[in-house]
Formats: sequence, structure tokens, C-alpha cells
Amino acid sequence: MSTKIEKDTQHSTAELYASLLDGNKQFVANTLKIDPEYFINLAKGQSPPVLWIGCADSRVPANQITNTAPGEIFVHRNIANMVVHSDMNMLSVLDYAVNVLKVKHVIVTGHYGCGGVLAAMGNHEFGLIDNWLRHIKDVYRLHATALEQIEDPTERSDRFVEFNVIENVYNLCKTSIVQNAWKSGQELGVHGWVYSLSTGIITDMKVSAYDNANMEDVFKFK
Ligand code: ZN
Repeated sequence: MSTKIEKDTQHSTAELYASLLDGNKQFVANTLKIDPEYFINLAKGQSPPVLWIGCADSRVPANQITNTAPGEIFVHRNIANMVVHSDMNMLSVLDYAVNVLKVKHVIVTGHYGCGGVLAAMGNHEFGLIDNWLRHIKDVYRLHATALEQIEDPTERSDRFVEFNVIENVYNLCKTSIVQNAWKSGQELGVHGWVYSLSTGIITDMKVSAYDNANMEDVFKFK
């Protein structure tokens, strides 16, 4: 089965561009065939119960891999699903999701074979992105002893992907936004998942938090 993009790579750049708009026409036609009111209803507003913080990788689309529909997941994506505490983009999305949309869950989703994580394990210089990869290298430093005991390179990078998700769940918990939600009694779960590109299966890292009970004292708002 060849994908749309595989077919499109044989075509010119202009044809590829046009095919996206054709694809949209097909999408609208197919959707209206199933539900003539679909867009009218979707335009009325959103009330997603979940915020997804995932990798920008094109193979990890939040809705498809959780079998959910548009309107069900509020999404923020960046390279290697990072929660950087001074990232105004992420903080704005998080603030809106928690304080306006009142989501019930925030999920950090990483994936095995993540290019950002693999790049952060090496010493090659890539340019501007090295400044972003630095945050991932900081995660490596925290777990260097455990990671360097793993000889198999794939196994080691898989474990690093898991550590990166876990640390970013902790980062999320430490934000003023999540801590204040918990302080005010808002029901909010924070979770970490890893998606396998080769099986399609999501593994729960089992680091879910519903309050700041397990947080290091220095980070806690009291
Ligand atoms: Zn990735």
C-alpha cells in the first residue's frame, strides 16, 4: 500500500501542493456523506477533555493513534515532546487548556526512534536546533549512569525516550499552572506515554500524578 505522500514524491512540487487541496475536497465530501451536519456541529465550539503534548514527528498524530475525533484532543507538539518551563508557546497552550477548557488530563507522549532524542544522544552539530536539543541532553545527564549501562544502542535510545517522557511529566507537574489547578481542587491528571512506531502500541509509563505529593519539596507551592 503506497501512501499519499509516497505517490506524491513522484510528482512535481506544484502537484504535491495541489494534491493537498484536492485531498481537502475529498475529505469534506466523504465527511458530509456520513454526516451532513458534521461541520455545522463542530463549528459550535470545542470542549476537549485532554491536552496532548507530543512530538512534531509526522508519524505520531494524536487523534489517529487514540482513535479519537477532531474536538476531542487539544494538541501541542514540538521536537521531542518537551516541557520547557520558560517556553511561552507551551505555557500558553497549557494555561488555556487547564484554565479555560478545563481539560481533565494532560498527556506527554513520546515515541521510540524519536529523531530529536537520537540527535541529543550524539555529538553532531545541527545548527539552531542544538539549543533545543540541549534540554534533552539535560535529561540524559540526569540518567547517564543508567543509560550508559545499556550496551545495545536501540535499547539505550528507547530507554532515553522513556526517561525523556518521565522527566517532562515531572516538568509539567512543576509548572505554576498545574500546581495552581491542584491547589484549587481542580480535577487534573498528568500522564506519560510512549508510542511505538513499529507496533502502533502506546505504553503507559505509569508516572501519572493527580497532586504534588511526590514532588521534590523545593518545587512545591504551599
Ligand atoms: Zn520525535
